[in-house]
Amino acid sequence: WSKTRPKTFYHKHLTIEEAKNRAHVPSNSDGVGFGKVFTDHFVEADWEMNSGWGKPKIRPLGLQSYHPGMMAFHYGLELFEGMKAYYGVDKKIRLFRPELNMQRMRRSAERSCFPDFDTEEAIKLIEELVRLDSHWVPKSEKASLYIRPVMIATDPSLGLHVPNQVKWYMIAGPAGSYFETGNKGVSLLADPSYVRSWPGGVGAFKMGCNYAPTIYVGREAAAKNCQQVLWLSGEEKNITEAGAMNVFLFWKNEQGEDELITAPVDSGLLLPGVTRQSILELAKEWKQFKVTEKEFTMDQFVRALKEKRVYEFFGAGTAAVVGPISEILYLDKTAGINEKLNVPTLQSKVKLMNKFYDAITGIQYGKIQKPEWTRVI
Ligand code: PMP
Repeated sequence: WSKTRPKTFYHKHLTIEEAKNRAHVPSNSDGVGFGKVFTDHFVEADWEMNSGWGKPKIRPLGLQSYHPGMMAFHYGLELFEGMKAYYGVDKKIRLFRPELNMQRMRRSAERSCFPDFDTEEAIKLIEELVRLDSHWVPKSEKASLYIRPVMIATDPSLGLHVPNQVKWYMIAGPAGSYFETGNKGVSLLADPSYVRSWPGGVGAFKMGCNYAPTIYVGREAAAKNCQQVLWLSGEEKNITEAGAMNVFLFWKNEQGEDELITAPVDSGLLLPGVTRQSILELAKEWKQFKVTEKEFTMDQFVRALKEKRVYEFFGAGTAAVVGPISEILYLDKTAGINEKLNVPTLQSKVKLMNKFYDAITGIQYGKIQKPEWTRVI
């Protein structure tokens, strides 16, 4: 064991304590919903300023005790990731581009003054847990094993400072078919009086502090019969994300070209999604229409809807891969706007969204071979 301060945890130091009592694995995985059922084990590694990273452990999942004074509880010093393991048609379990999740997690860690770690070592720990709890990976093409890596500041200390103690851990649980409504199309509330990010802020990072304030807005949306929030940004009301998904507009643009457009990540206003990146890369490979990462505004979108230039508008994220948007309630008090917009995504003839769904799930479930995007466990 190194006498110097290790700059990462190492898979080779992993110890495993197996659970004596195993939980019941739900038989109908499609109906398990999301985030309520967990597998039998979790992985953790602790870091201390003076000694660096300790040895990772897999232990039975259960209640943990933490000091009520720890920083994560007081100042939201927490960050996380969301990724999945898929049971393929060839009976192999795959992760989808896990290095992108771990690289994003390291960027979130840097912005949180948390210690860095090695991408590959983290993936090996994730693989080890999925292997140990592999019977939890649903044998269904509608379901998957959701993986939640987390980092928290565990310092029992109320001063607002760079944390001296941090924990990296990961839990997992089966996730069923995402939308209870099926693939019906969601309705969004677009109200520029609420924002989720701003220039110079942390919207580009997967930090817990970005999500807590959105619950209230989600409840406001639900009270108006909307399922999600369309996040707008700035004076121009740029369209950035929907709920916890990136968004894509497939339209005939103002120059008359068929174009797939999504907001750019260099603004720092949105999360650089793994699904977003995959859709952009696939669309560029297909070379069938223009692919653009550029700001587009609510006004441009409304005008295009009225001129019947919108083919499809959909969300993209790990949870559902893609999700059609069929309605937007546009409320802008200061501009005196209160209108319901119908979005014709589900009436689209080209069904581009479905093509992305088939391509990405095909790769995830081993029906389409793209080994550079998957890791077989
Ligand atoms: N935006 C936000 C705010 C999110 O939380 C997520 C989910 N991680 C996404 C977009 C989609 O990212 P990904 O494709 O990596 O799941």
